[in-house]
Amino acid sequence: MHELITEIIRRLKKWYKPQEWWKNADYSPWEIMIAIAFSSRTSYKQVIKCIERLRRAFRTPEDIMNMPNERLAHSIKMVGFVRRRVIMLKKLAKIIISVGGISNFLNLDTRTARKLLLSVPWIGPKTADMILVALFGEKYFIVDSNILRVLKRLKVVPQNANIYKAREIIEPLIPKNERVFLHLALLHLGRTICKPKPKCEVCPLKNICKFST
Ligand code: SF4
Repeated sequence: MHELITEIIRRLKKWYKPQEWWKNADYSPWEIMIAIAFSSRTSYKQVIKCIERLRRAFRTPEDIMNMPNERLAHSIKMVGFVRRRVIMLKKLAKIIISVGGISNFLNLDTRTARKLLLSVPWIGPKTADMILVALFGEKYFIVDSNILRVLKRLKVVPQNANIYKAREIIEPLIPKNERVFLHLALLHLGRTICKPKPKCEVCPLKNICKFST
């Protein structure tokens, strides 16, 4: 299995250059959370502008909690969906405060952290997983439904595995410094090629994938 994982990584590296845009900014983990939560339906450019503006006044979850909604709405208006994003930010801040701060959040296991993120209105599985990847980095290998589909087709995990079981199986097989890359690359593959109806003929993994042979 190790050789297969190594070959998958090698092929995907030739095919995909990930955009870990949050690494280029000097964002705190709290700001990374907000940036990724906003980026799901807004351009990175607008998100970056918004974080710059927010950080002048609201550096912490407590700042956000204490801020009147109207002022918060005014500060984030450039990212759109203002009313729902005010609610989202307040709930996100409440969660971080409830676990004792961002450092404690970063010490949670990913299952609990994911559950908490998914309890925030308008944070769906994709956004929650991207936040976990950005915050937990190489510590874990996050599996989402797209990645699970690809892993099952590659026969890397059993057909009855769920995202948590799949992670348990594959995480120890992936070198730590490749975990973020492999997550982003498999996610991209699952969204663009290995979709529910796969396009195996253009897939970079076609010769090593049992599903296509
Ligand atoms: S060869 Fe087909 S089934 Fe296998 S990973 Fe590629 S797209 Fe998916």
